[in-house]
Amino acid sequence: SERKARNAASPSYMTFDDIGGQHRAKGELKEALDFLIKHDEIQKLGIRPLKGILLTGPPGTGKTLMAKAAAHYTNSVFLAAAGSEFVEMYVGVGASRIRDMFKDARSRAVKENKDSAIVFIDEIDVIGGKRDGGQHREYDQTLNQLLTEMDGIHTAETPRILIVAATNRKEMLDSALLRPGRFDRHIEVDLPDKKGRLHILNIHAKNKPISEEANLEHIAEETFHFSGAQLESVMNEAAIYAMRDESACIEQRHLSQAVDKVMMGEKTDRESTK
Ligand code: ATP
Repeated sequence: SERKARNAASPSYMTFDDIGGQHRAKGELKEALDFLIKHDEIQKLGIRPLKGILLTGPPGTGKTLMAKAAAHYTNSVFLAAAGSEFVEMYVGVGASRIRDMFKDARSRAVKENKDSAIVFIDEIDVIGGKRDGGQHREYDQTLNQLLTEMDGIHTAETPRILIVAATNRKEMLDSALLRPGRFDRHIEVDLPDKKGRLHILNIHAKNKPISEEANLEHIAEETFHFSGAQLESVMNEAAIYAMRDESACIEQRHLSQAVDKVMMGEKTDRESTK
């Protein structure tokens, strides 16, 4: 939740260049988004318009960043919510929240003079999980409302809405969500490889004084299996170690200490959720 708070504080303006690694995912996403941009041509050819993109992959790999960059790329307003925000004790509340969010998306797009709106729903599996014979009536209504919104016919007067959803449990999703015309584009946002990690480290090193002797490539090598969010933490922790050391810049030892700290933190997190 600390990370979520930090995300909320950062501006929603984000470009694909601010996202490290993820070369393939970025390419696939841009290609899909070009469909949204070239909607007139698309319509003339009778191609089904793009309604939903599903981003899958482990936590902290940049799915939210991708959705934000998508909004900038397509000149869209950006709205975000997490699946858990639609889970309520009272039947119908989740569904009406979905309705409100889409209404809000349309009115904001008009007000801000944008071509379209991108609605990002993180943890889509919370509302779009497999249905099991009507046991979760509340979730059903919420999911049905989402499907209704997705199936809504777009007219020339209303701004287009693209839904970008994220999950790290794709296999849990109800098949109704994956049907053609819904989330039929899937893009995997995986953990970064070494080159990607170096790219991400460099992005988060930009606003920090790093010693000439520091070797980020070595850090990229040491951080096998780290997510982008963890690499961001490494840079941040390294700066804190430098401050404690009363050092004017971040040295290699601060980076190494930070790697250990983030690695340890991950372990204790896992212990405590056991
Ligand atoms: P979750 O599934 O947990 O919501 P996510 O995949 O949406 O995670 P983000 O919220 O996009 O992850 O990333 C969290 C933070 O981690 C970002 O704000 C950014 O600081 C850093 N980060 C993650 N991936 C990258 C990346 N590829 N490039 C640069 N920074 C990244």
